[in-house]
Amino acid sequence: MTVNKGKGDVTVGVLALQGAFSEHIQLLRQAAEILADKHTTLVRRRWTFIEVRTELELSSCDALIIPGGESTAISLVAQRSNMLEPLRDFVKVSRKPTWGTCAGLILLAESANRTKKGGQELIGGLDVRVNRNHFGRQIESFQANLDLPFLSKANGNDFVGTNEPFKAIFIRAPIVERLLPNVNGEQIEQATIEETVIAPSRSMDETVRKIINIGEVEVMGILPGRAAALKHDGTKEKLDAEAGDIIAVRQANVFGTSFHPELTGDARIHVWWLEQVSEALNRRRSP
Ligand code: GLN
Repeated sequence: MTVNKGKGDVTVGVLALQGAFSEHIQLLRQAAEILADKHTTLVRRRWTFIEVRTELELSSCDALIIPGGESTAISLVAQRSNMLEPLRDFVKVSRKPTWGTCAGLILLAESANRTKKGGQELIGGLDVRVNRNHFGRQIESFQANLDLPFLSKANGNDFVGTNEPFKAIFIRAPIVERLLPNVNGEQIEQATIEETVIAPSRSMDETVRKIINIGEVEVMGILPGRAAALKHDGTKEKLDAEAGDIIAVRQANVFGTSFHPELTGDARIHVWWLEQVSEALNRRRSP
């Protein structure tokens, strides 16, 4: 499948084992149209978006989205269909651009809380510990207006022509409760904490190591004190003083969000992410 791929061709997969995968495909298509209207070199990209269920499909992908859904179910189906190892190779050995939303973020975490041992396998790739179902049950789902600095005009993103906050939907969402040092020792220690699982470590491919420096985890978005995010009135300033929760992170090509941008019809994050994918491919494909 990769055989006749031209330089401008990019295949982006969405893991389609369970969850909101078709919504992501729809927004990716929308995002590609927005990019095509932009008169940049990105116009030359020919994007193909595919649902990924098999190792062969994954092998044709340059980048991957792991959608929201139920992380235990996704990991179980991945295990049964022999996809766990190919996914770990994709994310951690080849370090190809990957984005996880909600359950996808949990699977990309190196460590996750509130998970029965043996009940859940992680892929890993982000040196973070997530706390699953942080805000409670399904009925405690909510929407919040987020200021996401990486989308703002000030950071050179003029594709949407607005600095509107992003309406983010949180459904039994995880948060990043801890950034882990980039060493294995810490993770071994995490394994002894009750109800915490960790991802098995994998070494990055030697050739990829020359191009990519894994570095630290970057915090890309914070949900301010929950009441502040919901209210948006005079109390906001005072409540913003609360530390807030980390709900978006990135570490060398791997990106994770606690919320569901695929359920809002707002393609801004998808546009931003496709640009990141394109840049990552430029780095990889140029000699
Ligand atoms: N709570 C779910 C889990 O643990 C994630 C929910 C979601 O993706 N909306 O997998």
